[in-house]
Amino acid sequence: MSTIQERLDKIRKDIPENVSLVAVSKTKPNIAILEAYNAGQRVFGENKVQELVQKYEELPKDIEWHLIGHLQTNKVKYIAPFVHMIHAVDSLKLLQEINKQGQKNNRVISCLLQFHIAQEDTKFGLSFEEAEAILNANVFVEMEYVSIKGVMGMASNTDDEELIRDEFRTLHNYFQIIKSQYFKFNEDFNEISMGMSGDFLLAIEEGSTMVRVGSSIFGDR
Ligand SMILES: *Cc1c(COP(=O)(O)O)cnc(C)c1O
Repeated sequence: MSTIQERLDKIRKDIPENVSLVAVSKTKPNIAILEAYNAGQRVFGENKVQELVQKYEELPKDIEWHLIGHLQTNKVKYIAPFVHMIHAVDSLKLLQEINKQGQKNNRVISCLLQFHIAQEDTKFGLSFEEAEAILNANVFVEMEYVSIKGVMGMASNTDDEELIRDEFRTLHNYFQIIKSQYFKFNEDFNEISMGMSGDFLLAIEEGSTMVRVGSSIFGDR
């Protein structure tokens, strides 16, 4: 069996320099995270608020923590003091709460808009129309403590490569339209968070700038 360091090294070789790697450490113990940390990894992703807060408290402070899972409005306050990026923003109400907690902590919080691109209807995320409604809202335009850095999506859990590719293309397309219509002069809007263990190479081919890889680094959950 290979070590976390070996798996991490291999994945890094597969990822071009302009694509960042979020090591998804959900359900994994601190000792596993530290092994990746000692191999140079500083960016980690978690999908549950409570687990994220606990790991933040226990692990080195130069880790950049990304919340990649669904976020409930009433839990934003727990992560607002330290979270580096929130990937799964899927409502105006959530964004308003992030802005409010950002203000309380005097920090601008980086967010991605999560889109529903998969066939499955269990997955969270916005339609293109819902995203436009957020971006056009007056309350959004006035937010000072939120910075929208780009988009995020999850492809269908399937072996059908063409379907996955198609879904990633859809997300890339949404990114481009939104950039040209709402963030044309804003350099900060430049991330496309897509690709996990099973599909990150496809995602990179389709324009991903940020992959979220868990089991290929840390083993099965
Ligand atoms: C768990 C998770 C991942 C990583 O999944 P792997 O298949 O283990 O790489 C990526 N993104 C999100 C949103 C997740 O919840």
